Amino acid sequence: MSSDSNVKRTKLDPFGTSIIENYENLYGKEFGIQPFKPFLPKISNPAQSMRRGVIFGHRNFENVLKAMNEKKEFAVMSGIKPSGEFHLGTLMTACEVIYFQQQGGIAFYCIADVEAYEDNNLSFDESEKIALSNVTDLLTLGFDPKHGYIYRQSKEEHVKNLAIIFGRGVTLATMKAIYGERHMGLYLSALIQAGDILLPQLKEFGGPKPTVVPVGIDQDPHLRLTRDLAFKFRKKYKFISPSSTYHKLIKALDGSPKMSKRNPLSYFTLEETPEIIEKKISRAFTGGRPSEKEQRKFGANPDICPIYDLYLYQFYEKDEDVIKLRNEECMSGNLLCGECKLRLIKIVLKFVKNHQRKRLRNIDYAREILSIA
Ligand code: SF4
Repeated sequence: MSSDSNVKRTKLDPFGTSIIENYENLYGKEFGIQPFKPFLPKISNPAQSMRRGVIFGHRNFENVLKAMNEKKEFAVMSGIKPSGEFHLGTLMTACEVIYFQQQGGIAFYCIADVEAYEDNNLSFDESEKIALSNVTDLLTLGFDPKHGYIYRQSKEEHVKNLAIIFGRGVTLATMKAIYGERHMGLYLSALIQAGDILLPQLKEFGGPKPTVVPVGIDQDPHLRLTRDLAFKFRKKYKFISPSSTYHKLIKALDGSPKMSKRNPLSYFTLEETPEIIEKKISRAFTGGRPSEKEQRKFGANPDICPIYDLYLYQFYEKDEDVIKLRNEECMSGNLLCGECKLRLIKIVLKFVKNHQRKRLRNIDYAREILSIA
C-alpha cells in the first residue's frame, strides 16, 4: 500500500476507533500536527514520555515552551471520562498533567461526566463513584490541588455556559465533518470539551494565557474544534489559541491498537488484584516467534508488542534499560517472551501495590474535592 493511501486510511476519532498506521502520516498539511522532537534540546527537564518519543506531536507548543522557559504564567488542561478505573492510557495523561504542573503550570483536570453520559450512557450517580476513584488516583500520582482545579463538567457552570455560547459558532455540517454522523448529545459534549479547554483563560480563572492540552492523539478533533472556536470568539474573550501535545496510543494487551475501557481484557487497572493483573499480563499478545528456536535465531518484534509498550511508556525508569531491552534482548533473540513477561509482572505488581497502599490516604481528600458527602 502506498504511503498516500496510508494517509487516507488514517482516522482520528475520539468517540470511536482511530486508525493510525504510521504516526509520521499525521505530520504535514492534512492533519496539521507538527513533530515534537525538535523541542527536546530546548526543554530543560523533559518528561520521560518526551525523551522516549511517546509524545511525538504537538500544535503550537512553542507558546507554552516560551512561557515555561521565561517563567511566565501558563496552564495545563486535560481530564478523564469517568467510565472506568485508571488504566495505562489514562495514567499517562494524568502523569503529563502533573509534569506540566511541576514545571509551573496552573493545572486544570476535568472529570468528563457529561461525555460519560452522552458516549457511554452512564448516569451521573454511577459516574460519581468512578470519579471519586479517578481523583483518588490522580492525587496519589502527585497532582497538587493547591496549584490546580479539579472539577466535574456537570457541576461547572462556566464550562456549560461556554458550550451554549460556542453553539452559535459552529454549524451541523462542521460537526459532521469533524466527528462524523453522531447523535446530538455527542456534539454537545464536544462543545462542552471546548469549554473545558478554554476555561483556564476566562477572567474568573486569571484571563488569557498559553494553555497546553496533553492528550492521546485520538483526541485531536477536540483541539481542532476548540482552536477554531477560540479564533471565532477571540474578540470577546481574547483567547490565545490552545496548544497541545500528543502521545502515541498504548497498544492493548490483546495486540489491538488501543487500550479501551469497553474491552476489560485489553488493559489492567490500578485497582485490580495482583492475581488478575498477573493473569492478564501472562496471557497478553507479544511480538514473539512461534517457537523458541526461531526466536533465538531471528529475534522478536517489539514494535507490535504491548509488553514492550508497557516497559517503554511507563515501567522502565531508565532510558538505557528500554534501549537494552529492545536491541540487546528482544530483537537479538536473547530474551524469550515468557521471561520478559515475568520480569514485567514483578515491576508492575510492585508499582500497583505501592500505589494501592498510598491511595487509601487520599480517598477523603478526593471526596472533599468532589463535594461528595
Ligand atoms: S521479548 Fe518481550 S518485548 Fe520482545 S516481543 Fe517478547 S514480550 Fe515483547
